[in-house]
Amino acid sequence: MKDMEDRVEKLVIIGSGPAGLTAAIYACRADLDPLVFMGTRYGGQLMLTSEVENFPGFPDPVLGPDLIARMKSQAERLGARLVQEDVVRVNFRTYPLEVHTGSGATKALAVILAMGANPRRLNLPSEMSLMGKGVSNCAVCDGFFFRGKKIAVVGGGDSAMEEATFLTKFASQVQVIHRRDELRASAALKKEAFANPKISFIWDSVVTDVVGDTKVQGVKIKNLKNGKESEFPVDGLFVAIGYDPNTEMLRGQVELDPKGYVAIRNGTESSVQGVFVAGDVHDFRYRQAITAAADGCKALLDAEKFIKRKLELKVAS
Ligand code: NAP
Repeated sequence: MKDMEDRVEKLVIIGSGPAGLTAAIYACRADLDPLVFMGTRYGGQLMLTSEVENFPGFPDPVLGPDLIARMKSQAERLGARLVQEDVVRVNFRTYPLEVHTGSGATKALAVILAMGANPRRLNLPSEMSLMGKGVSNCAVCDGFFFRGKKIAVVGGGDSAMEEATFLTKFASQVQVIHRRDELRASAALKKEAFANPKISFIWDSVVTDVVGDTKVQGVKIKNLKNGKESEFPVDGLFVAIGYDPNTEMLRGQVELDPKGYVAIRNGTESSVQGVFVAGDVHDFRYRQAITAAADGCKALLDAEKFIKRKLELKVAS
């Protein structure tokens, strides 16, 4: 507690995916001496991604964890203080703002929230063991690897329809597996998917297992209406059943939208002065490493102006 009383950080960044680490890199360059709480399992979704081929500056594919390692060492080289701890609580009702981890509390003039979102899982052991080996959560990232192949997509929402339609650029056939007989997706995306001759639908069914040892070879499904189980061959399984933003600890502290994402206004501002937002923790639409990185830059530029004003006021008083 004594530490907290003695020192007020200029900037605390929560999260260490592309959004948080880009904010840290820019913060160092702005002389803000950022303190980054990376989380105990740092790096975000890229840590579960295999080859990344669409991040500019990498003519050869780079593994997701390697891309994070490079961003991390870039931030470290510039002087960012990276701490591998989870933030357990924040208090934004006071100023300076407070961020609490297991080892204590930190006061800060500004905070950037960049703790991302987690794709929902089917929670099958085979889904996790084949992640990056044919199982994916991102068609834009991985669709390219499935040229001429047969793919299954799970889900009935906008993401599933968007992913299925996108995947038909590469795949020979896309089978959407949905647990009900009616899609949740918007009319326009539904229409586009129904009209696509490469897309077919398996209704009222769930995936019970992903088949394959070192790569996906098929899926087992169960019809929920008649209990019938079956198996069919596919080369890829895209799970598109939604995302959960990591915002549980922000409840009551900052405005969230009805789906739990941080609400933003005027660029990257949250509902609390001095708290800025970057990446998938607010963005359920684009969800790319490059858009998260760009967001991290924008949040830092906004935070920098805010911190500068605060420091000028302090000098003047
Ligand atoms: P979503 O709307 O929550 O849809 C998730 C889908 O997955 C639902 O069809 C749901 O089935 C199914 N599902 C959930 N858990 C499941 C499980 N354990 N097993 C099998 N199926 C499961 O999520 P989303 O599609 O990612 O969309 C999230 C938000 O982003 C939405 O507001 C959406 O409109 C927006 N979005 C917009 C665009 C766009 O405008 N271009 C694109 C993508 C996303 P039920 O239907 O039975 O619940």
